[in-house]
Amino acid sequence: MKVGIIGSGIGALASAIELTRLGLDVTVFESNDQIGGKIVEQRIGDFRFDMGPSVFTEPLLVQNLLKSLDPEQEFAFHLLTESCRYFFNDGQKVLIPTGKERVAQVLHAELGEDELAAQRFLTKMEANYKTIYPVFIQISLHRFKHLFAKPLFKALSRLFQYGLHQTMHSQNQQSFVNPKTVQIFDRLATYNGSSPYLAPAMLNIISQLEFNDGPALPVGGMVQITRRAHQLALAHGVKFKTNERVLEILLQKQSIQGLKTSKGTYAFDLVVSNMDIHYTYERLLPTIKPPRFLLKQEKSSSAVVFYWGMARSFDQLGVHNIFFAADYQAEFKALFETKTLYSDPTIYVHISSKIETADAPAGKENWFVMVNAPINVGQDWDNEIQLLRKRIIAKLSKSLALDIEPFIEVEQINEPRLIDERYSGKQGSIYGNASNNVFSAFLRHPNFSKKLKGLYFAGVTVHPGGGIPLAINSAQIVARCIQEDFPSLQK
Ligand SMILES: Cc1cc2nc3c(=O)[nH]c(=O)nc-3n(C[C@H](O)[C@H](O)[C@H](O)COP(=O)(O)OP(=O)(O)OC[C@H]3O[C@@H](n4cnc5c(N)ncnc54)[C@H](O)[C@@H]3O)c2cc1C
Repeated sequence: MKVGIIGSGIGALASAIELTRLGLDVTVFESNDQIGGKIVEQRIGDFRFDMGPSVFTEPLLVQNLLKSLDPEQEFAFHLLTESCRYFFNDGQKVLIPTGKERVAQVLHAELGEDELAAQRFLTKMEANYKTIYPVFIQISLHRFKHLFAKPLFKALSRLFQYGLHQTMHSQNQQSFVNPKTVQIFDRLATYNGSSPYLAPAMLNIISQLEFNDGPALPVGGMVQITRRAHQLALAHGVKFKTNERVLEILLQKQSIQGLKTSKGTYAFDLVVSNMDIHYTYERLLPTIKPPRFLLKQEKSSSAVVFYWGMARSFDQLGVHNIFFAADYQAEFKALFETKTLYSDPTIYVHISSKIETADAPAGKENWFVMVNAPINVGQDWDNEIQLLRKRIIAKLSKSLALDIEPFIEVEQINEPRLIDERYSGKQGSIYGNASNNVFSAFLRHPNFSKKLKGLYFAGVTVHPGGGIPLAINSAQIVARCIQEDFPSLQK
């Protein structure tokens, strides 16, 4: 059977690996010149930057994905001992380590939390994570036989632990005494582009990855995730076509016939779209009635990123650093209600060269400086971004007690319009739909088409949602669905 995959993000590469394992003949089409979707690198001057994701959790998922096709594959990564350094406007700095006990100790010593209560919270999130993951992340919510299995009943047995009536913020507020601790835990909503004041408390399970396990960093940078998956797929016969945009999914009646691209027409039995689900319908399936209700849900946030090569090193900073807004709620209102860049933004600074020293010349650092941004609704981005740049420099300079601007040696900028243009992210949104309501998990598009036989979907804009691990899970769900739909395929 021949499969055409639209796009080459991690969801596509994981699909290519999974489907090759099933014995399918796979071709991947990527409109850009590089394979990897948003997980690509760029050299700017003497500095190397990962252009998209920087927070890497569940590294074993990548390792196991590679091993599933070739058991000899090893994926090397650093496990970070610090989860993040937090800087507050009043001058307080808190370094949060990784590991439940150590995190609880720091929350007690630095922020006055009850150590045992903090540990209990993190233990509860670990238990919630373990029961929720097999039900909401690893399977299709849209197939009866996936859902009605043992893990569902286990998850239901802890139903009252999930805070179903609460938002992330209200559960965090109830669990911690210091508003700064609440803000640290609230931030995890941004991991899928949502607001902690709207997202359901269930998403607090991200604490398991951020604090209990802690983030990792691939040896050689984030780009190794897609590079290794690409190399492995290539070695196993997957065909890659770059600079080739898919223009249409070809149908006969309600069945897949193939793909029309900027360079030709190809026959396929199956198609997996890794393109943003909104644009898959809008641009590639113009004659098909889209599932409007799912697609009209609020979009996840976008981002403005400054890639700065810094001509000195900063001992106060670690791999991941956050400079918080004083009024976090006002920042999320700006993001999702007024759709503006907030005047006192929370700034994330990622410096891979702290560990991957080859990423910057000796004594210098590669700063990935990111601010969450609203989706593109026609704001005056050119002016807004210049104003934001000034605000970021002023805020970081104040916090680091040094004017940082003279040290910016090279610069490049990414922003919502470019995210839309380069990666086809609808209005620059990074994760498709936001998780800004209690039903959001059920309001993501399924991993298969209910109308068109042979059409499947993988990536962060469909179920189970945002982030690298979820994109890999989406591919694994696609593989399972294809196996169920075509039982003759090998295991
Ligand atoms: C600035 C930024 C920071 C992020 N930080 C993190 C993070 O720290 N951790 C994390 O887990 N996630 C993060 N993300 C989200 C992350 O990018 C995703 O988790 C993941 O990389 C998305 O993978 P994907 O498979 O959905 O596809 P994408 O990476 O979005 O790739 C889709 C690909 O499809 C191609 N394509 C689209 N339409 C067509 C067409 N018609 N024909 C051919 N090709 C097409 C696009 O060019 C693109 O290459 C971040 C994203 C951004 C932008």
